[in-house]
Amino acid sequence: MPRPISAVIHTASLSHNLARVRRAAPGSKVWAVVKANAYGHGIARAYGALRAADGFALLDLAEAEQLRALGWVGPILLLEGCFAAEDLALCERLNLWHVVHCREQIDWLAMHRGSRAHRVFLKLNTGMNRVGFSPEAYAAAWERLSALPQVGEITHMTHFACADETGGVDEALARFERGVADLGGERTLANSAAVLVHGANPRVAADWVRPGIALYGSSPTGLAPGAAHWELQPAMSLRSELIDLQSIAAGESVGYGARFTAARPMRIGVVACGYADGYPRVAPNGTPVVVDGVRTTLVGRVSMDMITVDLEPVFAAGGQPMIGSSVLLWGQDAQAELCIDDVAASAGTLGYELMCALAARVPVRVE
Ligand SMILES: *Cc1c(COP(=O)(O)O)cnc(C)c1O
Repeated sequence: MPRPISAVIHTASLSHNLARVRRAAPGSKVWAVVKANAYGHGIARAYGALRAADGFALLDLAEAEQLRALGWVGPILLLEGCFAAEDLALCERLNLWHVVHCREQIDWLAMHRGSRAHRVFLKLNTGMNRVGFSPEAYAAAWERLSALPQVGEITHMTHFACADETGGVDEALARFERGVADLGGERTLANSAAVLVHGANPRVAADWVRPGIALYGSSPTGLAPGAAHWELQPAMSLRSELIDLQSIAAGESVGYGARFTAARPMRIGVVACGYADGYPRVAPNGTPVVVDGVRTTLVGRVSMDMITVDLEPVFAAGGQPMIGSSVLLWGQDAQAELCIDDVAASAGTLGYELMCALAARVPVRVE
């Protein structure tokens, strides 16, 4: 028998979450953001559900190629644009739309001798200060692009730094509208947080929204109100089983560094899941884990291939945990749900990082 850990991708949840995003921004077209191999879910696995989007947005040219090979003929947007001048040929061959965020990317277009006009998304920096033209430099970049025969339609784009806060987009929205002024063309501003919190504002929702994390059923902030409040369903479950049990006396410790010491006699379950599977090594004692449908906690340090959990709450609930008992690390199983955001919060991170870190050695099933 293979090692009992597995991940499950729930395509019905992906469909539900996409529909949920559409309800939040009913007048907008939706880019399904599938960078980082669809946030760890697998582009090919997510494709069937997410092809109901209006386009796919990602960073990696190989992932764009994969989508075309899957049969997607609609829009694909490269969120960071081209990384070198030679990428423009691939954009043409695969008909990829691409972001332009710096002068060099305009230079490459100007020197490019191709056969079709490129659809570009010009990025305005509204305070994130990673990529994009300042509001002052934006119109000149737009004019230079518009004058190029290599360039067709230009869409205006920005990315919010603080979209999850009430009022958090006001300043950025003002900068965006000042920078774009009366230049014509479509607009796209909103990631998941902006769609969920501010999607009712048509100036934020605009022509295209760009949800990623919401499609996968995790909260953009990791804070309350969580994924369930936004009516999002978990699209990934990480499941395993107990492979051993221990009874330890008061004063005995568990695992590397003896990080957890039992205050009283207790039974410990050993789970086939470790940091080499993508489970966060920094997860502290107390991180939630579900055994046979009962919520309990991690005790002791996460090791490469195993974690140890407190079985006392499971016995207290009338359970009979044994080797082969089911363990839910996050997501859902027949008996319970454990929001990935709760696990992430305990480990001091976000659901994004956990799902993207799912290791290649974990077998994945689609349901
Ligand atoms: C990743 C990304 C998104 C999606 O962000 P979420 O927070 O996952 O919704 C949107 N726009 C850009 C430019 C991105 O890089």
